[in-house]
Amino acid sequence: MRILILGTRAGLPDPEVNQSAILLTVRDRHYLFDCGYGAMRQLMRENVHPGHVDHVFLSHLHYDHIADFPVFMIGSWMMGRKNPPVVVGPQDTRHFVDSLLVDGAFRKDIEARAQYPQRQANFDVMKPDVRECEPGVVFEDDLVKVTACYVEHIPLEISPCFGLRMDTVDGQSVVFSGDTAPCDRLIALARGADLLIHECTFPEVAIRFREQAGIGTWAHTSPTDLGSIAKAAGVKELVATHFCAHQAPNAVMREIWSSHMPIEHMGTDIIDQMVADIRANWDGPLRMAHDGMRIDL
Ligand SMILES: [Zn+2]
Ligand SMILES: [Zn+2]
Repeated sequence: MRILILGTRAGLPDPEVNQSAILLTVRDRHYLFDCGYGAMRQLMRENVHPGHVDHVFLSHLHYDHIADFPVFMIGSWMMGRKNPPVVVGPQDTRHFVDSLLVDGAFRKDIEARAQYPQRQANFDVMKPDVRECEPGVVFEDDLVKVTACYVEHIPLEISPCFGLRMDTVDGQSVVFSGDTAPCDRLIALARGADLLIHECTFPEVAIRFREQAGIGTWAHTSPTDLGSIAKAAGVKELVATHFCAHQAPNAVMREIWSSHMPIEHMGTDIIDQMVADIRANWDGPLRMAHDGMRIDL
């Protein structure tokens, strides 16, 4: 299988880096985990036809994981999509999808485009097969089984958040944490996996800054904790992803990030610091994700 990390940025929009999206491809069948801002253009940049992506899994409903979904839906309809995609997500995924499409925010766009015979020919694809799921097996076909657990991110009573595990017919396993604080359920889900792709939003220096500024960091995993998680889960390889911005190259970026990060510590060396902190507890294979990173298992 092939794993393409399409986007790695957490939270705020970024001029250079795309938000959360990972494409898993098993024997030419595509499965998209998250659809954050930039996912659509990243698919095309990586030579993947968006209309050939028929399975979308949403880890949770924060906008940095779902913002490109209407672009994906309307864009791939216009690109000749043949099948309505399966969309798997937590509770309220149906409301998210329905409020965007034929009867929702983009209804006039869709109505206007649907006047053309070419658009009418595949109009059915605008009605995706939405599956709101509970933890457990959330999807299965002849190639893969996808299992979800609740993780520790948004309070459960507001909106559930999933970690996701894919096991393939070829015996491979990949786990994606979604967004989460250190979570025993995620460690159990990831047990023995070939690859753990885990969020690592803030470097330790930012966590201290945010604690002092009263912003809070409870909903994410620190580099030091991430090393312990990978070790506890016994995974074969760790990929850290979902990073806040490392650099603020102009005045606007510095202003934007000044309430989230200690600006004086932003720079390319932050990745080195994060690696050192992960390494305090993890000596196995480690990669720091970047947009366009490809892993072949
Ligand atoms: Zn996020
Ligand atoms: Zn989130």
